[in-house]
Amino acid sequence: MGRLGGFLEIDRQKTPERGAWERQRDWQELTLPSDERLIQDQAARCMDCGTPFCQMGEAWQKLTIGCPLYNLIPEWNDLVYRGHWREAYERLFKTNNFPEFTSRVCPAPCEGSCNANLPTEPVAIKSIERAIIDKAFEEGWVIVRRPKKRTGKKVAVIGSGPAGLACADNLNQAGHSVTVFEKADRPGGLLMYGIPNMKLEKWVVERRIEHLKKEGITFILNTEVGKAIPLEKLEAQFDAVILCVGAARHRDLKIPGRTLKGIHYAMDYLEESTKALLEGRAPKITAERKKVIVIGGGDTGADCVATALRQNCLSVVQFGKHERPPKVRRANNPWPEPPQIFKLDYAHEEAIARFGHDPRQFGISTVRFRGTESVSMLETVGIKVNEDGSLEEIPETEQSWEADLVLIAIGFEGVEKNFADYTDIKLSANGTILAPRKTFATNRPNVYAAGDARRGQSLIVWAMREGREVADIVNEKLKN
Ligand SMILES: Cc1cc2nc3c(=O)[nH]c(=O)nc-3n(C[C@H](O)[C@H](O)[C@H](O)COP(=O)(O)OP(=O)(O)OC[C@H]3O[C@@H](n4cnc5c(N)ncnc54)[C@H](O)[C@@H]3O)c2cc1C
Ligand code: SF4
Repeated sequence: MGRLGGFLEIDRQKTPERGAWERQRDWQELTLPSDERLIQDQAARCMDCGTPFCQMGEAWQKLTIGCPLYNLIPEWNDLVYRGHWREAYERLFKTNNFPEFTSRVCPAPCEGSCNANLPTEPVAIKSIERAIIDKAFEEGWVIVRRPKKRTGKKVAVIGSGPAGLACADNLNQAGHSVTVFEKADRPGGLLMYGIPNMKLEKWVVERRIEHLKKEGITFILNTEVGKAIPLEKLEAQFDAVILCVGAARHRDLKIPGRTLKGIHYAMDYLEESTKALLEGRAPKITAERKKVIVIGGGDTGADCVATALRQNCLSVVQFGKHERPPKVRRANNPWPEPPQIFKLDYAHEEAIARFGHDPRQFGISTVRFRGTESVSMLETVGIKVNEDGSLEEIPETEQSWEADLVLIAIGFEGVEKNFADYTDIKLSANGTILAPRKTFATNRPNVYAAGDARRGQSLIVWAMREGREVADIVNEKLKN
Protein backbone atom coordinates (compact mmCIF):
# COMPACT_ATOMS: atom_id res chain seq x y z
CA MET A 1 0.00 0.00 0.00
CA GLY A 2 0.95 3.70 -0.17
CA ARG A 3 2.43 5.48 2.84
CA LEU A 4 0.92 4.52 6.19
CA GLY A 5 -1.44 7.38 7.08
CA GLY A 6 -0.52 9.14 3.80
CA PHE A 7 -4.12 10.22 3.21
CA LEU A 8 -4.04 12.10 6.53
CA GLU A 9 -0.69 13.83 5.99
CA ILE A 10 -0.81 14.71 2.30
CA ASP A 11 -3.46 16.98 0.75
CA ARG A 12 -5.20 15.92 -2.44
CA GLN A 13 -3.87 17.60 -5.59
CA LYS A 14 -5.10 17.07 -9.16
CA THR A 15 -3.44 17.43 -12.57
CA PRO A 16 -2.90 21.20 -12.91
CA GLU A 17 -5.02 23.14 -15.40
CA ARG A 18 -4.32 26.29 -17.39
CA GLY A 19 -6.05 29.44 -16.09
CA ALA A 20 -9.74 29.76 -16.99
CA TRP A 21 -9.16 33.08 -18.79
CA GLU A 22 -5.99 32.15 -20.65
CA ARG A 23 -7.16 28.78 -21.97
CA GLN A 24 -10.37 30.05 -23.60
CA ARG A 25 -8.30 32.03 -26.07
CA ASP A 26 -7.26 28.84 -27.86
CA TRP A 27 -8.45 25.27 -28.46
CA GLN A 28 -5.58 23.50 -26.75
CA GLU A 29 -5.99 21.08 -23.88
CA LEU A 30 -7.00 22.44 -20.47
CA THR A 31 -4.53 20.40 -18.47
CA LEU A 32 -0.80 20.84 -17.90
CA PRO A 33 1.74 18.06 -17.34
CA SER A 34 2.01 16.86 -13.73
CA ASP A 35 5.18 16.77 -11.71
CA GLU A 36 6.28 13.12 -11.21
CA ARG A 37 7.18 13.62 -7.53
CA LEU A 38 3.80 15.22 -6.82
CA ILE A 39 2.01 12.25 -8.41
CA GLN A 40 4.02 9.78 -6.32
CA ASP A 41 2.93 11.70 -3.21
CA GLN A 42 -0.66 11.51 -4.37
CA ALA A 43 -0.34 7.76 -4.88
CA ALA A 44 0.99 7.55 -1.30
CA ARG A 45 -2.49 8.61 -0.13
CA CYS A 46 -4.01 5.28 -1.27
CA MET A 47 -4.73 2.88 1.59
CA ASP A 48 -5.01 -0.33 -0.52
CA CYS A 49 -8.38 -0.89 1.10
CA GLY A 50 -9.64 -4.39 1.92
CA THR A 51 -12.76 -3.52 -0.08
CA PRO A 52 -11.61 -1.04 -2.72
CA PHE A 53 -14.86 0.62 -3.78
CA CYS A 54 -12.82 2.59 -6.35
CA GLN A 55 -12.66 -0.45 -8.64
CA MET A 56 -16.09 -1.90 -8.03
CA GLY A 57 -17.72 -0.70 -11.30
CA GLU A 58 -21.46 -1.09 -10.88
CA ALA A 59 -24.46 0.87 -12.14
CA TRP A 60 -26.66 1.99 -9.26
CA GLN A 61 -29.92 3.61 -10.31
CA LYS A 62 -28.65 6.21 -12.82
CA LEU A 63 -25.23 6.52 -11.16
CA THR A 64 -21.96 4.63 -11.52
CA ILE A 65 -20.14 3.37 -8.45
CA GLY A 66 -16.43 2.74 -8.91
CA CYS A 67 -14.60 2.04 -12.18
CA PRO A 68 -16.63 0.06 -14.77
CA LEU A 69 -13.35 -1.19 -16.26
CA TYR A 70 -12.41 -2.71 -12.87
CA ASN A 71 -9.08 -0.90 -13.15
CA LEU A 72 -6.59 -2.33 -10.64
CA ILE A 73 -6.35 1.03 -8.94
CA PRO A 74 -4.78 0.14 -5.56
CA GLU A 75 -2.14 -1.96 -7.34
CA TRP A 76 -1.01 0.77 -9.70
CA ASN A 77 -1.22 3.41 -6.99
CA ASP A 78 1.24 1.40 -4.92
CA LEU A 79 3.57 0.82 -7.89
CA VAL A 80 3.62 4.56 -8.68
CA TYR A 81 4.30 5.42 -5.03
CA ARG A 82 7.34 3.10 -5.16
CA GLY A 83 8.50 4.52 -8.52
CA HIS A 84 7.78 1.33 -10.52
CA TRP A 85 6.16 3.24 -13.35
CA ARG A 86 6.53 0.60 -16.05
CA GLU A 87 4.84 -2.07 -13.92
CA ALA A 88 2.13 0.46 -13.08
CA TYR A 89 1.53 0.96 -16.81
CA GLU A 90 1.36 -2.81 -17.38
CA ARG A 91 -1.25 -3.15 -14.61
CA LEU A 92 -3.26 -0.24 -16.00
CA PHE A 93 -3.19 -1.64 -19.53
CA LYS A 94 -4.52 -5.02 -18.34
CA THR A 95 -8.00 -3.60 -17.88
CA ASN A 96 -8.00 -0.36 -19.88
CA ASN A 97 -7.33 -0.33 -23.65
CA PHE A 98 -7.08 3.46 -23.88
CA PRO A 99 -5.96 5.16 -20.63
CA GLU A 100 -5.01 8.27 -22.61
CA PHE A 101 -8.76 8.87 -23.22
CA THR A 102 -10.13 7.95 -19.81
CA SER A 103 -7.45 9.85 -17.88
CA ARG A 104 -8.46 13.01 -19.77
CA VAL A 105 -12.25 12.88 -19.95
CA CYS A 106 -13.67 10.27 -17.59
CA PRO A 107 -15.71 11.92 -14.80
CA ALA A 108 -13.91 9.47 -12.49
CA PRO A 109 -16.63 7.57 -10.64
CA CYS A 110 -13.68 5.77 -8.99
CA GLU A 111 -12.90 8.97 -7.10
CA GLY A 112 -16.52 9.49 -6.02
CA SER A 113 -16.46 6.01 -4.49
CA CYS A 114 -12.92 6.05 -3.03
CA ASN A 115 -12.98 5.14 0.67
CA ALA A 116 -10.78 8.14 1.45
CA ASN A 117 -13.89 10.29 0.84
CA LEU A 118 -15.03 9.33 4.32
CA PRO A 119 -12.21 10.70 6.49
CA THR A 120 -10.85 13.29 4.02
CA GLU A 121 -10.75 13.72 0.21
CA PRO A 122 -10.50 10.99 -2.47
CA VAL A 123 -7.21 9.80 -3.91
CA ALA A 124 -6.45 11.72 -7.15
CA ILE A 125 -6.86 8.50 -9.18
CA LYS A 126 -7.49 10.14 -12.54
CA SER A 127 -4.38 12.34 -12.25
CA ILE A 128 -2.26 9.30 -11.35
CA GLU A 129 -3.68 7.39 -14.34
CA ARG A 130 -2.84 10.33 -16.60
CA ALA A 131 0.74 10.49 -15.35
CA ILE A 132 1.20 6.73 -15.92
CA ILE A 133 -0.02 6.77 -19.52
CA ASP A 134 1.84 10.00 -20.39
CA LYS A 135 5.06 8.45 -19.11
CA ALA A 136 4.36 5.17 -20.94
CA PHE A 137 4.08 7.01 -24.26
CA GLU A 138 7.16 9.16 -23.52
CA GLU A 139 9.27 6.13 -22.58
CA GLY A 140 8.11 4.06 -25.58
CA TRP A 141 6.41 1.39 -23.47
CA VAL A 142 3.26 1.53 -25.61
CA ILE A 143 4.45 -0.85 -28.30
CA VAL A 144 2.81 -2.23 -31.45
CA ARG A 145 1.60 -5.79 -30.70
CA ARG A 146 0.82 -7.66 -33.90
CA PRO A 147 -0.82 -11.01 -33.10
CA LYS A 148 1.58 -13.91 -33.80
CA LYS A 149 -1.12 -16.19 -35.22
CA ARG A 150 -4.30 -15.44 -37.16
CA THR A 151 -7.37 -17.64 -36.63
CA GLY A 152 -8.78 -17.17 -40.14
CA LYS A 153 -12.01 -15.76 -38.66
CA LYS A 154 -13.30 -12.38 -39.79
CA VAL A 155 -15.20 -9.86 -37.66
CA ALA A 156 -16.91 -6.61 -38.70
CA VAL A 157 -17.25 -3.90 -36.06
CA ILE A 158 -19.70 -1.15 -36.99
CA GLY A 159 -18.84 2.19 -35.40
CA SER A 160 -15.44 3.41 -34.20
CA GLY A 161 -16.30 5.04 -30.85
CA PRO A 162 -14.75 3.76 -27.62
CA ALA A 163 -16.98 0.62 -27.63
CA GLY A 164 -16.06 -0.31 -31.20
CA LEU A 165 -12.36 0.46 -30.70
CA ALA A 166 -12.05 -1.56 -27.46
CA CYS A 167 -13.92 -4.48 -29.03
CA ALA A 168 -11.83 -4.34 -32.24
CA ASP A 169 -8.60 -4.15 -30.21
CA ASN A 170 -9.37 -7.24 -28.10
CA LEU A 171 -10.62 -9.34 -31.01
CA ASN A 172 -7.58 -8.39 -33.10
CA GLN A 173 -5.27 -9.35 -30.23
CA ALA A 174 -7.13 -12.71 -30.06
CA GLY A 175 -6.00 -13.29 -33.67
CA HIS A 176 -9.20 -12.58 -35.61
CA SER A 177 -9.13 -10.28 -38.64
CA VAL A 178 -11.09 -7.17 -37.72
CA THR A 179 -12.55 -4.54 -40.05
CA VAL A 180 -14.12 -1.42 -38.53
CA PHE A 181 -16.79 0.33 -40.64
CA GLU A 182 -17.42 4.00 -39.80
CA LYS A 183 -19.89 6.38 -41.40
CA ALA A 184 -17.96 9.54 -40.48
CA ASP A 185 -14.89 10.82 -42.33
CA ARG A 186 -12.68 10.31 -39.26
CA PRO A 187 -12.68 7.42 -36.77
CA GLY A 188 -13.21 7.82 -33.02
CA GLY A 189 -16.99 8.33 -32.60
CA LEU A 190 -17.74 10.89 -29.91
CA LEU A 191 -14.05 10.91 -28.94
CA MET A 192 -13.47 12.65 -32.28
CA TYR A 193 -16.68 14.56 -33.01
CA GLY A 194 -18.43 14.98 -29.65
CA ILE A 195 -15.92 15.78 -26.93
CA PRO A 196 -14.29 19.13 -27.78
CA ASN A 197 -10.60 19.54 -28.55
CA MET A 198 -9.80 21.38 -25.31
CA LYS A 199 -10.88 18.30 -23.32
CA LEU A 200 -9.34 15.74 -25.67
CA GLU A 201 -6.97 16.93 -28.39
CA LYS A 202 -7.66 15.05 -31.59
CA TRP A 203 -4.05 14.00 -32.19
CA VAL A 204 -4.46 11.81 -29.07
CA VAL A 205 -7.32 9.94 -30.79
CA GLU A 206 -5.45 9.77 -34.11
CA ARG A 207 -2.30 8.43 -32.39
CA ARG A 208 -4.29 5.47 -31.00
CA ILE A 209 -6.02 4.80 -34.34
CA GLU A 210 -2.63 4.70 -36.11
CA HIS A 211 -1.42 2.28 -33.46
CA LEU A 212 -4.43 -0.02 -33.95
CA LYS A 213 -3.90 0.07 -37.72
CA LYS A 214 -0.27 -0.99 -37.27
CA GLU A 215 -1.52 -3.86 -35.11
CA GLY A 216 -3.60 -5.10 -38.04
CA ILE A 217 -7.08 -3.56 -37.75
CA THR A 218 -8.60 -2.24 -41.00
CA PHE A 219 -10.70 0.95 -40.90
CA ILE A 220 -13.21 1.69 -43.67
CA LEU A 221 -14.50 5.26 -43.36
CA ASN A 222 -17.37 7.22 -44.96
CA THR A 223 -19.42 4.01 -45.04
CA GLU A 224 -22.82 3.93 -43.40
CA VAL A 225 -23.81 0.35 -42.71
CA GLY A 226 -27.47 -0.19 -43.54
CA LYS A 227 -27.51 2.56 -46.15
CA ALA A 228 -24.22 2.21 -48.08
CA ILE A 229 -23.77 -1.54 -47.36
CA PRO A 230 -26.70 -3.73 -46.32
CA LEU A 231 -26.19 -5.45 -42.99
CA GLU A 232 -27.02 -8.80 -44.68
CA LYS A 233 -24.01 -8.39 -46.97
CA LEU A 234 -21.68 -8.04 -43.98
CA GLU A 235 -23.33 -11.01 -42.28
CA ALA A 236 -22.49 -13.11 -45.36
CA GLN A 237 -18.87 -11.90 -45.52
CA PHE A 238 -17.94 -11.98 -41.81
CA ASP A 239 -18.15 -14.62 -39.07
CA ALA A 240 -19.56 -12.06 -36.63
CA VAL A 241 -20.86 -8.49 -36.86
CA ILE A 242 -20.80 -6.22 -33.80
CA LEU A 243 -22.92 -3.07 -33.77
CA CYS A 244 -21.29 -0.26 -31.80
CA VAL A 245 -23.21 2.50 -33.55
CA GLY A 246 -23.77 4.77 -30.53
CA ALA A 247 -27.02 6.43 -29.50
CA ALA A 248 -26.93 9.77 -31.28
CA ARG A 249 -30.60 10.29 -32.14
CA HIS A 250 -31.29 13.83 -30.88
CA ARG A 251 -34.08 14.52 -28.44
CA ASP A 252 -36.01 17.50 -29.82
CA LEU A 253 -37.80 20.35 -28.08
CA LYS A 254 -41.17 20.47 -29.76
CA ILE A 255 -42.40 23.92 -28.76
CA PRO A 256 -43.74 26.89 -30.79
CA GLY A 257 -41.07 28.61 -32.91
CA ARG A 258 -38.86 25.51 -33.21
CA THR A 259 -38.47 25.94 -37.00
CA LEU A 260 -36.91 29.43 -36.72
CA LYS A 261 -33.36 29.81 -38.04
CA GLY A 262 -30.53 29.85 -35.49
CA ILE A 263 -31.78 26.87 -33.44
CA HIS A 264 -29.50 23.83 -33.68
CA TYR A 265 -28.89 20.50 -31.99
CA ALA A 266 -25.83 20.66 -29.74
CA MET A 267 -24.21 17.73 -31.52
CA ASP A 268 -24.47 19.39 -34.96
CA TYR A 269 -22.79 22.46 -33.47
CA LEU A 270 -20.04 20.54 -31.65
CA GLU A 271 -19.27 18.28 -34.62
CA GLU A 272 -19.06 21.20 -37.02
CA SER A 273 -16.82 23.16 -34.60
CA THR A 274 -14.33 20.30 -34.36
CA LYS A 275 -14.42 19.61 -38.10
CA ALA A 276 -13.78 23.28 -38.89
CA LEU A 277 -10.92 23.39 -36.38
CA LEU A 278 -9.29 20.30 -37.91
CA GLU A 279 -9.76 21.63 -41.44
CA GLY A 280 -8.54 25.14 -40.56
CA ARG A 281 -11.70 26.89 -41.78
CA ALA A 282 -14.55 28.94 -40.27
CA PRO A 283 -17.39 26.81 -38.87
CA LYS A 284 -20.77 26.90 -40.66
CA ILE A 285 -22.56 27.24 -37.31
CA THR A 286 -20.79 29.73 -35.09
CA ALA A 287 -21.35 31.63 -31.84
CA GLU A 288 -19.15 34.51 -32.96
CA ARG A 289 -20.65 37.84 -31.77
CA LYS A 290 -23.90 36.05 -30.85
CA LYS A 291 -26.04 35.88 -27.75
CA VAL A 292 -26.07 32.15 -27.08
CA ILE A 293 -28.52 30.10 -25.06
CA VAL A 294 -27.81 26.44 -24.41
CA ILE A 295 -30.88 24.41 -23.42
CA GLY A 296 -29.81 21.44 -21.28
CA GLY A 297 -27.93 21.43 -18.00
CA GLY A 298 -25.68 18.40 -18.64
CA ASP A 299 -22.12 17.86 -19.83
CA THR A 300 -22.98 18.24 -23.52
CA GLY A 301 -24.45 21.65 -22.68
CA ALA A 302 -21.27 22.59 -20.78
CA ASP A 303 -19.17 21.61 -23.83
CA CYS A 304 -21.35 23.97 -25.91
CA VAL A 305 -20.72 26.80 -23.43
CA ALA A 306 -16.94 26.30 -23.62
CA THR A 307 -17.06 26.11 -27.43
CA ALA A 308 -19.16 29.30 -27.69
CA LEU A 309 -16.65 31.14 -25.47
CA ARG A 310 -13.81 30.15 -27.78
CA GLN A 311 -15.81 31.45 -30.75
CA ASN A 312 -16.15 34.85 -29.04
CA CYS A 313 -19.85 34.86 -28.21
CA LEU A 314 -21.32 38.09 -26.83
CA SER A 315 -23.01 36.22 -23.97
CA VAL A 316 -23.84 32.66 -22.99
CA VAL A 317 -26.53 31.21 -20.70
CA GLN A 318 -27.13 27.52 -19.95
CA PHE A 319 -30.62 26.38 -18.90
CA GLY A 320 -31.15 23.30 -16.73
CA LYS A 321 -34.44 21.93 -15.42
CA HIS A 322 -33.06 20.70 -12.11
CA GLU A 323 -32.68 22.92 -9.07
CA ARG A 324 -29.23 24.10 -7.99
CA PRO A 325 -27.47 21.08 -6.42
CA PRO A 326 -26.61 21.27 -2.72
CA LYS A 327 -23.11 22.13 -1.43
CA VAL A 328 -22.81 18.83 0.45
CA ARG A 329 -24.30 15.38 -0.25
CA ARG A 330 -27.98 14.93 0.53
CA ALA A 331 -28.99 12.09 2.85
CA ASN A 332 -30.32 10.16 -0.18
CA ASN A 333 -26.95 10.40 -1.97
CA PRO A 334 -24.57 8.66 0.42
CA TRP A 335 -21.03 7.45 -0.26
CA PRO A 336 -20.05 5.35 -2.28
CA GLU A 337 -22.39 6.95 -4.80
CA PRO A 338 -20.70 9.75 -6.75
CA PRO A 339 -21.51 13.02 -4.96
CA GLN A 340 -24.38 14.94 -6.62
CA ILE A 341 -23.23 18.33 -5.37
CA PHE A 342 -22.72 21.81 -6.78
CA LYS A 343 -19.63 21.88 -8.99
CA LEU A 344 -18.09 24.28 -11.44
CA ASP A 345 -17.28 22.43 -14.65
CA TYR A 346 -14.38 23.72 -16.78
CA ALA A 347 -16.85 25.59 -19.01
CA HIS A 348 -18.51 27.35 -16.07
CA GLU A 349 -15.16 28.48 -14.66
CA GLU A 350 -14.34 29.91 -18.08
CA ALA A 351 -17.68 31.76 -18.36
CA ILE A 352 -17.14 33.26 -14.90
CA ALA A 353 -13.64 34.38 -15.92
CA ARG A 354 -15.10 36.05 -19.06
CA PHE A 355 -18.42 37.49 -17.89
CA GLY A 356 -18.11 37.51 -14.10
CA HIS A 357 -21.00 35.13 -13.39
CA ASP A 358 -22.01 31.49 -13.60
CA PRO A 359 -23.78 30.93 -16.97
CA ARG A 360 -26.22 28.40 -15.49
CA GLN A 361 -29.88 29.02 -14.74
CA PHE A 362 -31.41 26.24 -12.67
CA GLY A 363 -35.04 25.11 -12.51
CA ILE A 364 -36.03 26.68 -15.82
CA SER A 365 -37.99 25.43 -18.83
CA THR A 366 -38.27 26.95 -22.32
CA VAL A 367 -41.86 27.25 -23.53
CA ARG A 368 -41.57 29.25 -26.77
CA PHE A 369 -39.04 30.57 -29.30
CA ARG A 370 -39.80 33.96 -30.81
CA GLY A 371 -38.48 35.75 -33.92
CA THR A 372 -39.48 36.60 -37.50
CA GLU A 373 -37.21 34.44 -39.69
CA SER A 374 -34.49 33.77 -37.14
CA VAL A 375 -34.76 33.26 -33.41
CA SER A 376 -34.38 36.45 -31.36
CA MET A 377 -36.06 35.62 -28.04
CA LEU A 378 -36.88 32.70 -25.72
CA GLU A 379 -39.72 32.59 -23.24
CA THR A 380 -39.29 30.49 -20.11
CA VAL A 381 -41.01 29.55 -16.87
CA GLY A 382 -39.53 28.44 -13.56
CA ILE A 383 -40.14 24.76 -12.74
CA LYS A 384 -39.63 22.34 -9.92
CA VAL A 385 -39.02 18.63 -10.30
CA ASN A 386 -41.33 16.59 -8.07
CA GLU A 387 -40.17 13.49 -6.22
CA ASP A 388 -41.75 11.22 -8.87
CA GLY A 389 -39.70 13.03 -11.57
CA SER A 390 -42.65 15.02 -12.96
CA LEU A 391 -42.17 18.73 -13.71
CA GLU A 392 -44.36 21.43 -12.19
CA GLU A 393 -44.47 25.04 -13.39
CA ILE A 394 -44.05 27.70 -10.74
CA PRO A 395 -46.67 30.46 -11.19
CA GLU A 396 -45.52 34.01 -12.05
CA THR A 397 -42.00 33.01 -13.07
CA GLU A 398 -42.27 33.86 -16.79
CA GLN A 399 -39.14 35.43 -18.28
CA SER A 400 -37.88 36.51 -21.73
CA TRP A 401 -34.30 36.06 -22.91
CA GLU A 402 -32.59 37.55 -25.95
CA ALA A 403 -30.79 35.01 -28.13
CA ASP A 404 -29.60 34.66 -31.71
CA LEU A 405 -28.06 31.20 -31.38
CA VAL A 406 -29.87 28.44 -29.48
CA LEU A 407 -28.31 25.02 -28.90
CA ILE A 408 -30.50 22.09 -27.84
CA ALA A 409 -28.64 19.69 -25.56
CA ILE A 410 -31.43 17.77 -23.83
CA GLY A 411 -30.22 14.23 -24.42
CA PHE A 412 -30.59 11.42 -26.91
CA GLU A 413 -33.22 8.84 -27.84
CA GLY A 414 -31.33 5.76 -28.97
CA VAL A 415 -29.73 4.74 -32.27
CA GLU A 416 -29.91 7.10 -35.22
CA LYS A 417 -33.01 7.05 -37.41
CA ASN A 418 -31.17 5.82 -40.52
CA PHE A 419 -29.88 2.77 -38.71
CA ALA A 420 -33.36 1.92 -37.44
CA ASP A 421 -34.88 2.51 -40.90
CA TYR A 422 -32.33 0.57 -42.95
CA THR A 423 -32.03 -2.56 -40.80
CA ASP A 424 -34.50 -4.92 -39.13
CA ILE A 425 -32.54 -4.99 -35.86
CA LYS A 426 -35.04 -4.93 -32.99
CA LEU A 427 -35.04 -1.87 -30.76
CA SER A 428 -36.26 -1.29 -27.22
CA ALA A 429 -38.97 1.23 -26.34
CA ASN A 430 -36.27 3.86 -25.68
CA GLY A 431 -34.68 3.36 -29.10
CA THR A 432 -31.60 1.33 -28.10
CA ILE A 433 -30.73 -2.05 -29.66
CA LEU A 434 -32.37 -4.99 -27.89
CA ALA A 435 -29.51 -7.28 -26.82
CA PRO A 436 -29.34 -8.81 -23.34
CA ARG A 437 -26.37 -7.88 -21.18
CA LYS A 438 -25.24 -11.50 -20.76
CA THR A 439 -24.98 -12.37 -24.46
CA PHE A 440 -25.00 -9.01 -26.31
CA ALA A 441 -26.85 -10.97 -29.04
CA THR A 442 -29.40 -9.15 -31.22
CA ASN A 443 -32.39 -10.69 -33.01
CA ARG A 444 -30.14 -11.64 -35.99
CA PRO A 445 -27.77 -14.61 -35.76
CA ASN A 446 -24.08 -13.70 -35.25
CA VAL A 447 -24.95 -10.03 -34.90
CA TYR A 448 -24.17 -8.42 -31.52
CA ALA A 449 -24.56 -4.94 -30.04
CA ALA A 450 -22.55 -3.03 -27.40
CA GLY A 451 -21.86 0.43 -26.00
CA ASP A 452 -24.29 3.35 -26.11
CA ALA A 453 -26.21 1.65 -28.93
CA ARG A 454 -27.26 -1.01 -26.40
CA ARG A 455 -27.30 0.80 -23.06
CA GLY A 456 -28.14 4.37 -24.15
CA GLN A 457 -25.93 7.48 -23.81
CA SER A 458 -23.42 6.82 -21.07
CA LEU A 459 -19.72 7.19 -20.37
CA ILE A 460 -16.59 6.20 -22.24
CA VAL A 461 -15.70 3.70 -19.52
CA TRP A 462 -19.06 1.92 -19.89
CA ALA A 463 -18.67 1.86 -23.69
CA MET A 464 -15.19 0.35 -23.34
CA ARG A 465 -16.35 -2.20 -20.80
CA GLU A 466 -19.15 -3.35 -23.11
CA GLY A 467 -16.70 -3.43 -26.04
CA ARG A 468 -14.37 -5.68 -24.02
CA GLU A 469 -17.19 -7.93 -22.81
CA VAL A 470 -18.73 -8.47 -26.23
CA ALA A 471 -15.25 -9.21 -27.59
CA ASP A 472 -14.85 -12.00 -24.97
CA ILE A 473 -18.21 -13.53 -25.95
CA VAL A 474 -17.52 -13.37 -29.69
CA ASN A 475 -14.01 -14.73 -29.22
CA GLU A 476 -15.31 -17.75 -27.27
CA LYS A 477 -17.90 -18.39 -29.96
CA LEU A 478 -15.37 -18.15 -32.80
CA LYS A 479 -12.81 -20.33 -31.00
CA ASN A 480 -15.39 -23.08 -30.56
C1 LIG B 1 -20.87 16.13 -26.34
C2 LIG B 1 -20.57 14.89 -25.55
C3 LIG B 1 -19.54 14.94 -24.62
C4 LIG B 1 -19.25 13.81 -23.86
N1 LIG B 1 -18.25 13.89 -22.95
C5 LIG B 1 -17.93 12.80 -22.24
C6 LIG B 1 -16.88 12.86 -21.30
O1 LIG B 1 -16.25 13.91 -21.10
N2 LIG B 1 -16.57 11.72 -20.61
C7 LIG B 1 -17.25 10.54 -20.82
O2 LIG B 1 -16.91 9.53 -20.18
N3 LIG B 1 -18.27 10.47 -21.69
C8 LIG B 1 -18.62 11.56 -22.41
N4 LIG B 1 -19.65 11.49 -23.30
C9 LIG B 1 -20.31 10.19 -23.54
C10 LIG B 1 -19.40 9.26 -24.40
O3 LIG B 1 -18.78 10.00 -25.41
C11 LIG B 1 -20.20 8.10 -24.98
O4 LIG B 1 -20.83 7.40 -23.93
C12 LIG B 1 -19.29 7.13 -25.75
O5 LIG B 1 -18.58 7.78 -26.78
C13 LIG B 1 -20.11 5.99 -26.36
O6 LIG B 1 -19.27 5.19 -27.12
P1 LIG B 1 -19.82 4.26 -28.30
O7 LIG B 1 -18.62 3.65 -28.93
O8 LIG B 1 -20.87 3.36 -27.78
O9 LIG B 1 -20.55 5.25 -29.32
P2 LIG B 1 -20.05 6.56 -30.10
O10 LIG B 1 -18.86 7.17 -29.47
O11 LIG B 1 -21.26 7.38 -30.27
O12 LIG B 1 -19.59 5.99 -31.51
C14 LIG B 1 -20.52 5.45 -32.42
C15 LIG B 1 -19.92 5.50 -33.82
O13 LIG B 1 -20.73 4.73 -34.71
C16 LIG B 1 -20.80 5.41 -35.95
N5 LIG B 1 -22.01 4.94 -36.65
C17 LIG B 1 -23.30 5.16 -36.30
N6 LIG B 1 -24.11 4.53 -37.19
C18 LIG B 1 -23.31 3.93 -38.10
C19 LIG B 1 -23.57 3.13 -39.25
N7 LIG B 1 -24.80 2.83 -39.63
N8 LIG B 1 -22.51 2.69 -39.97
C20 LIG B 1 -21.23 2.98 -39.58
N9 LIG B 1 -20.93 3.74 -38.50
C21 LIG B 1 -21.96 4.18 -37.77
C22 LIG B 1 -20.89 6.87 -35.55
O14 LIG B 1 -20.52 7.72 -36.62
C23 LIG B 1 -19.88 6.91 -34.41
O15 LIG B 1 -18.58 7.16 -34.89
C24 LIG B 1 -19.99 12.61 -24.06
C25 LIG B 1 -21.03 12.57 -24.98
C26 LIG B 1 -21.33 13.70 -25.72
C27 LIG B 1 -22.48 13.66 -26.68
S1 SF4 C 1 -10.81 3.16 -2.40
FE1 SF4 C 1 -9.34 4.90 -2.55
S2 SF4 C 1 -7.89 4.55 -0.89
FE2 SF4 C 1 -9.02 2.62 -1.16
S3 SF4 C 1 -7.79 1.38 -2.59
FE3 SF4 C 1 -9.20 2.59 -3.85
S4 SF4 C 1 -8.06 4.47 -4.36
FE4 SF4 C 1 -7.00 3.50 -2.65
